[in-house]
Amino acid sequence: MTARSVPHLSLLLGMIISVVVATAACSPQPGANGASGDPTTGAAHAHEEGEAGHAHEESGGEDPGGAEPSDLDLPLSAIFSKDTRCEHEIPTYTCDQCRYEFGVVRLPQDVLAASDGSLAVAVVERRPWSGAREATGEVALDADRAAWLGPRAPGVVRAIHVDLGDRVRAGQTLYEVESVELGDARSEYRRALAEQRVARSAAEREADLFARGICPESDLLEARARREQADASAEAARSRLGRLGLTGGEIATAAAAEPGGGAAGRGAGGDDGLLPVRAPFAGTVLERDLGLGARVEPGDRALLLADTSVVWVETAIAERELEAVLERQRRGAVPAVVSVSAFPARSFPGRLDRLGGTVDEATRTIRARVVADNPDGVLRAGMFARVRLQLDGEGDALVVPAEAVLEDEGRPFLFVRATTPGDEEYFVRRAVRPGRSADGWVEILGGLEPGQAIVTKGAFLLKSDVLRAKMGAGCAD
Ligand SMILES: [Zn+2]
Repeated sequence: MTARSVPHLSLLLGMIISVVVATAACSPQPGANGASGDPTTGAAHAHEEGEAGHAHEESGGEDPGGAEPSDLDLPLSAIFSKDTRCEHEIPTYTCDQCRYEFGVVRLPQDVLAASDGSLAVAVVERRPWSGAREATGEVALDADRAAWLGPRAPGVVRAIHVDLGDRVRAGQTLYEVESVELGDARSEYRRALAEQRVARSAAEREADLFARGICPESDLLEARARREQADASAEAARSRLGRLGLTGGEIATAAAAEPGGGAAGRGAGGDDGLLPVRAPFAGTVLERDLGLGARVEPGDRALLLADTSVVWVETAIAERELEAVLERQRRGAVPAVVSVSAFPARSFPGRLDRLGGTVDEATRTIRARVVADNPDGVLRAGMFARVRLQLDGEGDALVVPAEAVLEDEGRPFLFVRATTPGDEEYFVRRAVRPGRSADGWVEILGGLEPGQAIVTKGAFLLKSDVLRAKMGAGCAD
């Protein structure tokens, strides 16, 4: 329903009412020009009273102001009774001025046709309740497969091997940093290895001397203790290089270089003193805040790597839907479909992954995470998304479009078609009991039967008409 068509429809309905009024031998309807609160209303009212003063008295007696029951509570037999007469001495439902008091409107075929689809009538039926719950959400990176990659030690960027959008494999070197800490660690490792070699040969020598009875056992034990200490130091230095990200091969290369050789030892992977920053998993480079010569430190958001083949969609489910979601979850993962405005023709299958443990006080919703497939990587973090959770297998339901359900003082109602004995067609407000709602549809649990026709579109136009007529119906007060 466009905003543009609304005044057009109101006008159209107003014209229909006026035409009907003019041919119904009743006095002009005060509310027809929409000016029921104007002083002119008083004049029209006076004219009306002059013509049907007696009827007015009767009407007043039948409907005492405050205790007047809502038409929503009247049975159809009462509303369409020939005996219920208005102040114009005709059955109320037939009176173009008074039928609104009973929530009755006429909607002739030509009005429907002229409404250009703004008004529509349809027969309601039971149909499988799809159970789809639609909610808004936002695409986010899978936090288990996304990482900002800073170096493992402070340093200066000396080489960058990847750029935005590059796909990289696990273990691939992304950039390299000149790091004092790495230099220290390598020196320490070589020194430890040298000390280890000395300690080992000393222990061997002491063992030989002890075996030949030349030295006491205490010397041997002391030498063995020093050897063990040297072993531990070498292992610690080796671990430190491992923690900086060097591979076993690189550590072996570092060991082969002569201690004190400085920049002399050049070779693959770390042997030139550069600290490699590697991809911990296969993924795509999403952000690069990195330049040659820049100083970087551990924890810096230097380069964002993510596996975007699946993404998270952060959404929420209403508190009242929790039971249905949990019930569906007991039978397995809840299927979901994600769509984004950037790709209106596409949908991305996924599943409900996690439900939050608390309810948001303001929105009465529970956080939910949907994991969606993103094989070609088009879903990007930060995109707004629509998420449909499929809670199927919930049986049939009598459903109507959500816009067909209106409210009067908090009571939901529909405009339901009623055919009188004279085969005249009217629409009358009937109270209904709505149930679940989803996807622009509402389940009706009571007050409506399959096969009945209702106003499915544009009902609010009729509602405003009824209310205006009711408020403008001075005679009824
Ligand atoms: Zn009347």
